Amino acid sequence: MPQSITPSADDTIAYTLHGNRYLNITTACTLRCAFCPKFNKVWEVQGYDLKLSDKAGPGVEEIVAAVGNPLDYHEIVFCGLGESTLRWPVMLEVARRLKDKGASIRLNTDGLANLVYQRDVTPEMAGLIDQLSVSMNAHNEEVYNRHCRPKKAGAFDAMLDFVRRARQYVPEVSVTAIDGLSGVDIEACEAMAQALGVTFRRRHLDVVG
Ligand code: SF4
Repeated sequence: MPQSITPSADDTIAYTLHGNRYLNITTACTLRCAFCPKFNKVWEVQGYDLKLSDKAGPGVEEIVAAVGNPLDYHEIVFCGLGESTLRWPVMLEVARRLKDKGASIRLNTDGLANLVYQRDVTPEMAGLIDQLSVSMNAHNEEVYNRHCRPKKAGAFDAMLDFVRRARQYVPEVSVTAIDGLSGVDIEACEAMAQALGVTFRRRHLDVVG
């Protein structure tokens, strides 16, 4: 398995799985998911230690350098043990640089960027994000809140609204839920995805994808 490129520290800014290059650009989150490895003091995901020593996270140049040649990978995926959209301007600039090199870009997100920034940021993804995968995680607010423990009120509805809006600007949008998480009705999640007009993807706990 290719080694991570770490230009200025031992941090794993980019890591390779399934022929894709994943970007780990922050450890901050809007959620505090009970099932998250980091809340169980585990920072290793599929053999990669995703703890970042610099709380601010890597800069644009460092991230782009860590990718290497984006054309060596099926896609570049913003997905680490943190919420990439909390570094919105940095994330978009990295996407822009990589798109210029011909990369295909996916963003895995909690879908709470509009709630965090208190404005509709979804148009800013146009032309930069090719695929969006939003963690729906549950079929209703009560189950969502129990598992995801959002720091902000209204997170479940904000996530659904983000998905609806993002469809206009991102070519492929999907939502995910984790199979086997207590109280989560996977079939109901799938039906909600259909109603939203997006693809549904069933995930398994602790598997990055
Ligand atoms: S959004 Fe992801 S990284 Fe953040 S707490 Fe939840 S599972 Fe962990």
